[in-house]
Amino acid sequence: MGAENTGENGKPPLTVLLCSPRGFCAGVVRAIDSVEQALKRHGPPVYVRHEIVHNRYVVESLKAKGAVFVEELDEIPATSAPVIFSAHGVPKSVPEAAGRRNLFALDATCPLVTKVHREAEIHHRRGREIVLIGHRGHPEVIGTMGQLPPGAVTLIETLADAAAFTPRDPATLAYVTQTTLSLDDTAEIVVLLKQRFPAIVAPHKEDICYATTNRQEAVKRVAPRVDVMIVVGAPNSSNSQRLKEVAERAGCRHAVLVQRADDIDWARFGVINSLGITAGASAPEVLVEEIIVAFANRYTVSVETVAAAEEDVFFPLPRGLRETTAAE
Ligand code: SF4
Repeated sequence: MGAENTGENGKPPLTVLLCSPRGFCAGVVRAIDSVEQALKRHGPPVYVRHEIVHNRYVVESLKAKGAVFVEELDEIPATSAPVIFSAHGVPKSVPEAAGRRNLFALDATCPLVTKVHREAEIHHRRGREIVLIGHRGHPEVIGTMGQLPPGAVTLIETLADAAAFTPRDPATLAYVTQTTLSLDDTAEIVVLLKQRFPAIVAPHKEDICYATTNRQEAVKRVAPRVDVMIVVGAPNSSNSQRLKEVAERAGCRHAVLVQRADDIDWARFGVINSLGITAGASAPEVLVEEIIVAFANRYTVSVETVAAAEEDVFFPLPRGLRETTAAE
């Protein structure tokens, strides 16, 4: 690694700034607990539609306990086993199809995603055309658009999309957003939409969730102070990707997304004195610890926590698991 200064045991010193909060949010905890509780109550197999949360380590751990992951319901045979919908939410067609097949469906959609679904439905009932700010192809976006008939929701991904958008009637327009976006990018898009369509109806409370907001805020505090920022998370995790972008924008010249310690490309680190670490909302703390140990094997590490917010959000288990738990 070519570090010049040496500390104890001949290893170079490294200051690690740990972002707080980081890692699991209340929606992810609830989704993972749902699968674990279902396995405990009903035994394997428990079917899960889509990765319950976007993290390979979590998915592999649940597979080892008897969870079976599928992308679509038609991959599931006729069964009385539970079928769990992931934290990202599903289009209305999915619970409808599960109902037609009499599947025992349990919905682990994060309540903060469900809140956006309900907002979109209310706008639609009030005759408003809806703009969804989000990323095409992400399961949450597919789920939110799928709450309403085709054509009711228009997806806007970028400022250019917002500039080009032509509503049916600018007087009856509303917007909702994906929960895990960049706060700053979204704010720019919202400013442009409000300039172009002053009557556009906004969410009562920001759709970007508390976990996304707090993790981005902690990264903004740490990024300007470190040579490298590691974001522990999966490439398909929206909130993890945003944390990497936020770090770069906040002045960190080298931000990397890493799934676990084995993925670290040590050759790319060069001489560093300081390192920031955060984790996306779907990344377990054990992976953060693993990465700190990997650095401690190469550097004399001193760890400091940089806190941006306290979190005490808790969501009860989905109906169906709650009742079973209470009956015990
Ligand atoms: S990141 Fe936010 S919306 Fe997504 S599961 Fe966590 S709390 Fe819910």
